[in-house]
Amino acid sequence: MRVRKSMILYREGDYTWEGVEVHPYKEDGTLFKSVTRQTLAKGTPNLPVELRYFEVGPGGHTTFERHEHSHLVTVVRGSGQVLVGESVQNLGFLDVVQIPSMTWHQFRAAEDEPLGFLCVVNEIRDRPQRPTPEQAEEIRRAEPIKDFVRL
Ligand code: MN
Repeated sequence: MRVRKSMILYREGDYTWEGVEVHPYKEDGTLFKSVTRQTLAKGTPNLPVELRYFEVGPGGHTTFERHEHSHLVTVVRGSGQVLVGESVQNLGFLDVVQIPSMTWHQFRAAEDEPLGFLCVVNEIRDRPQRPTPEQAEEIRRAEPIKDFVRL
């Protein structure tokens, strides 16, 4: 089968792709720091997922959240750490992270370099949940995540 050129999304520059807009990660603004989002591919009926590229700037972090849908993440730039459930792990180039359903998570870039990753999600997905005040209080006390988490 011949592959049509339109089926390939070409890289344009420094972690950007032809015709793809670079958006702020979330429009609300206060729960994350220095994150951009690019949607690289939308789902199709027989592959109902989206492929996105996120980049967290040096020292930045994503929103602390959980949701019913899962994430499948591959690091493609820089380094950092990820909080998944009750652990914090180091992340580097080509490391792959699975975020299970209803598991608290947060990504953080290293202080001196960005953390860029590809993320696969279901096309149809629920909205992320934030911790309730009671849950936040518990998380602020939980070892070993309390020193990492940014609520
Ligand atoms: Mn998430």
